[in-house]
Amino acid sequence: MQPEPSMACTVRESLRLTTLPRLELQMLLGHAMSRSRAWLIAHDDEVLSADCHASFLQLCARRESGEPMAYLLGYREFMALEFEVSPAVLIPRPETELLVYEVLAMIGPIDHPRILDLGTGSGAIAVSLAHARRDASVWATDISADALAVACRNAANHGVDVQFLQGSWFEALNAGVAVDGFDVIVSNPPYIAQNDQHLRQGDLRYEPSIALTDQADGLSAYRAMVMGAPRYLGQGGSLVVEHGFDQGALVSELFKAAGFDHIKTLPDLAGHPRVTTGSYNG
Ligand code: GLN
Repeated sequence: MQPEPSMACTVRESLRLTTLPRLELQMLLGHAMSRSRAWLIAHDDEVLSADCHASFLQLCARRESGEPMAYLLGYREFMALEFEVSPAVLIPRPETELLVYEVLAMIGPIDHPRILDLGTGSGAIAVSLAHARRDASVWATDISADALAVACRNAANHGVDVQFLQGSWFEALNAGVAVDGFDVIVSNPPYIAQNDQHLRQGDLRYEPSIALTDQADGLSAYRAMVMGAPRYLGQGGSLVVEHGFDQGALVSELFKAAGFDHIKTLPDLAGHPRVTTGSYNG
């Protein structure tokens, strides 16, 4: 039986209240008390205030019903930086760090690289690139105003300058002053097919469907990107995209048909083909 929210309860007792994994309990309790996990461990006799206790129990109930930890806490770490997240944006995934590392390797030899991130969501890709390369000029687009608001705050929190534009893929660039000549165009677009059962599992149930699926075969965004990118890439510039574990060959084909060369597909840490790159020499 769970104690009533009004009942006094110590940190140690709180961590035994539910069957959630201990790490999740510590993170949720830390969040409710505005304390670190280290503090909780060192103060396990501390009695929770009634407010903290009530908000902790509420967080636990939401977690038990399946809400993602990142949305409950309001942040997720990516490229060793903390990113604000909300249900308006996809939760940054560790696989996507591969995309960022690949872009960093590509722009390694370029002074003042120009980068465009399409469908930036939380801004994780654009902001971590701008953070790692202070000399870069970074643009980022998203169709969702709510997502761009989160991305803007993430850029400000990390002290980087990113030009955010609202619109669908390249349309965002035409709305204001036209920008082009990019060294790299990068994207982690919605790539899950409409009928994929994963959309009904785990964290994905709570994430914005516009960030997960194209409501079609999962390849629409890549078609738009390979068609549009040549107009916006500088000579020899690259398109770098994340895709599903079974889409490497299909995405490479789209790159090839649109005239890209030096096409390669890289595996993620689980060994799944995850990122495809190609350059355009028109
Ligand atoms: N990588 C995500 C997942 O499969 C999907 C993200 C996306 O569609 N870009 O959970």
